[in-house]
Order: sequence, then structure tokens, then C-alpha cells
Amino acid sequence: MRFDDDAGLDTSEVQDLRGSGGGGGGVGGRLAIGGGGVGLVGLVIYFLISQFGGASPGHVSSGGGGLGLGDVRSGQQLDDSKLASQCKTGADANRNHDCAVVATINSIQDYWTQEFARSGQTYRKAPTNFFSGGVRTGGCGSATSDTGPFYCPADSQVYIDLTFFNDLKTRFGAQGGPFPEAYVLAHEYGHHVQNLTGASKKGGGSGPTSGSVRLELQADCYAGVWANHATKTPSKNGKPLITDITKDDISRALDTASRIGDDYIQSKLGGGQVDRSKFTHGTSKQREKWFTTGFQTGKPASCDTFSARDLG
Ligand SMILES: [Zn+2]
Repeated sequence: MRFDDDAGLDTSEVQDLRGSGGGGGGVGGRLAIGGGGVGLVGLVIYFLISQFGGASPGHVSSGGGGLGLGDVRSGQQLDDSKLASQCKTGADANRNHDCAVVATINSIQDYWTQEFARSGQTYRKAPTNFFSGGVRTGGCGSATSDTGPFYCPADSQVYIDLTFFNDLKTRFGAQGGPFPEAYVLAHEYGHHVQNLTGASKKGGGSGPTSGSVRLELQADCYAGVWANHATKTPSKNGKPLITDITKDDISRALDTASRIGDDYIQSKLGGGQVDRSKFTHGTSKQREKWFTTGFQTGKPASCDTFSARDLG
């Protein structure tokens, strides 16, 4: 995956909370999120937190992108100045990891903005928060890096400790690379799309055909849909921000999908036993299948995992 050297980046879509002394300083409440580190837990964390009293119902949406300083929680320091000065163009994204993540988020949200507009709807941009060690969210309580990247529906924001991308390689055994990282981010933004369309409400429960699994597979499919359009979606200068996605990129994304399926995580990273009743994200095969469906069709409508009789 390469970025257009001349494209402009929009760092306002990212909130950098890493500057507060590192190591997640200032994070308050402790949440026992079982097992730890299953990655891409997405909505699961939200349900856990909302059940155990972290979510604040008054904080339903930050609205309009919600990038204001009012979102900074106590004990965390927002400092976007470094990103803003480092990440100005696609050329910066091609040589700097943080900037590549910013550019990827820009591309994903450019696509969904245009896709929503095509059907007469409005996409509200959601910021991604970079944190280190732990974070206090605006609507889903506190979380540590062990939970992996996640989306908080209550504040419409994505949260990620970028060291997760290293974990994908070292703990999950994935090949890694910029495009698998883009898949992870596009999956989280898939949850944001579900929040906007109302599909989020259909999630929940566990088991191989549960709402949770269908919601997660749909987010994978939406990631594939974005990937289909990534090199065709014009950014502010009229040219696509991403200039090419190779076969190797796609195969690395599928490799990553195969490392974060419930069956893989339970058997390889857990106790070795596969318990289908505890599935919340789908099997490795299903995750690959739904990413591929989105990528091949490029159509969000092809991602109707809720009507699918056979999830793969
Ligand atoms: Zn998810």
C-alpha cells in the first residue's frame, strides 16, 4: 500500500493522548476484561462496560466529528501538535508510521463520507484516539491496551494503542504490514458505520450465530468494501490518497483476519479448547470470507450478515 506523495493529510481526525507521561498515566478505573488481549474486541468491551456501570447514557454522541478540546478527559493530555507538524502529506505517510495511520483513517472516512452522500445520508466523522497503556474513554469507561483497538458507540470514537500492531506479529503470529493495519482500522470504522445506521443495536450475545458475531463479521465486510474503493476515492486534492493496494497487501490482511478469529484465539492463544458458545467475532474462516465479500463486491449492501443464513 502506497500513499500519493502530494496528498494532504488531515490530522484533526486523530486525537493524540500519548503524551501524558507514557504508560497510560492518569487512567482511573480498572476493568477486569477477561483473558486479555484477544484483540479487536470492538463492541464486546462496550457491552462489558455498559453492564458493569461505566457507560454514561448522557454521552450518546460527540456529534459532528467531536474533535473539540471538550472531549479530553481528566488525567489525559491531548497534544496533537507533533502529529500536525509531522504528518502533512502522503509523502510523510510513506515514511512515518504515525502518519500512515492518519492517512489511512483519512482514506476510510473519505470513503464513508462519499458513500453515505451517494445515498442521500450524512456520515459523521469519528476521531481515533491514540493512547499508550490505558485510556479513559468519553462514554465507555476505562480500558487498557490489553483489550486491543475498540470503538465506543457511546462517544462515537475509536481507541487504539498503536503497539497493538506489534502484538499482532509477536503474539498472534501475523505477517503484519501497513495494509493489515488498515484492515484493523477499517474494521473499527465499520463499527462506527453500524452505529450510524443503527445496526449496532442488533449485536449482543455470544455463540456462532449470535448478534455479536454477525456485527463483527459485518465490520470485517465493511473493511473489505473500503479496501475495494480505497484507490478510487478522491481526497481533498481530487486524487485518491492511496495509490495502490497489492495482492500481497490483501493476502496479509487475510492472514491477519485468520489470526483474530475466535477459534484461532481460543485454540492457539487460550487453553487449546474451542468453545463455540463463547464466540463473539466469528471463526478465522468467516472473518476472511466476509472481508473478501466486501472487497470483491465493493458494496455495503453485500454485508448483510444479519440476514445471511450461512455465515460461512
Ligand atoms: Zn469489532
